[in-house]
Amino acid sequence: MDYRKRFLVEPGSKVKLAGIDPAYAPKHLSETEAKDETEKHRESIAKVQDLMYAEAQHSLLIVLQAMDAGGKDGTVRHAMSTFNPMGTTVTSFKRPTAEESKHDFLWRVHPHAPAKGMVAVFNRSHYEDVLVVRVHNLVPRDIWSKRYDDINEFEERLYRESNTHILKFFLHISKEEQLERFKSRLDDPSRNWKISEDDYKEREFWRDYVDAYEAVFRKTSTSNAPWYIIPSNHKWFRNVAISQIVASTLEELKIQTPEPQVDLERIRQQYHQAVEEEANRPLKKKTKAKK
Ligand code: AMP
Ligand code: MG
Repeated sequence: MDYRKRFLVEPGSKVKLAGIDPAYAPKHLSETEAKDETEKHRESIAKVQDLMYAEAQHSLLIVLQAMDAGGKDGTVRHAMSTFNPMGTTVTSFKRPTAEESKHDFLWRVHPHAPAKGMVAVFNRSHYEDVLVVRVHNLVPRDIWSKRYDDINEFEERLYRESNTHILKFFLHISKEEQLERFKSRLDDPSRNWKISEDDYKEREFWRDYVDAYEAVFRKTSTSNAPWYIIPSNHKWFRNVAISQIVASTLEELKIQTPEPQVDLERIRQQYHQAVEEEANRPLKKKTKAKK
């Protein structure tokens, strides 16, 4: 199944989250099969990423958004073990610091946009400025309501100027699944640290977050920076869907091994000359391998 087609938010369309089953997984796909398929996509992603790094013409930005406990951290961990760390950055966006709050909302975001050749992953993002900010009226409506246009313009600029391909994933879980995950955070001491004072308070605003997300999908899914709504109650399904979408987006770029920047013939001569010099060097001067 082509998950890119299936989970894409068509630009301009009105999506209702209530109409999308967060527990969806294809009937005939077992968890084991999904994991095998995910592995294949990961290999493909790794190959293209190497080429992207070498070529240094394209870049990829992956934006992850979700309700609390939606699986952003797990997705980052999964994605990161696919990407070569040398060509990848991850940025988590928290409540703005005092300094960040004194600037426009994109000020703290722009420096983390990927340079050509790089992959950047955003764990939360500039979308918080039209999500949590809208739900809790952290700035006047007059300000946040103009940010959708700012975001579209910003993302369009990244694409135009730095060839940044943007994939935005909403990890869609049900309210019940969230509670399950809160429980496992309580029950498992190694996960206690993930519990936040705000978890249950924010849960009461679920409906408002749904409205805020639906506005985001309607206003900011564009052909160059599309949103995908990924059913995420099953982590294994979330992983296969996201890895397929990333792999197929990258493959479509058809990145070739870059031409060498040097005169290969001349370098080859230098190599042969070095080999000859090495062969003619007096034996005692050669470094002996230590026992
Ligand atoms: P976590 O992702 O669990 O570490 O939590 C980060 C917290 O920072 C969440 O409660 C977010 O809603 C909050 N946050 C992120 N960006 C913003 C923002 N621009 N304004 C206000 N709160 C934010
Ligand atoms: Mg949290």
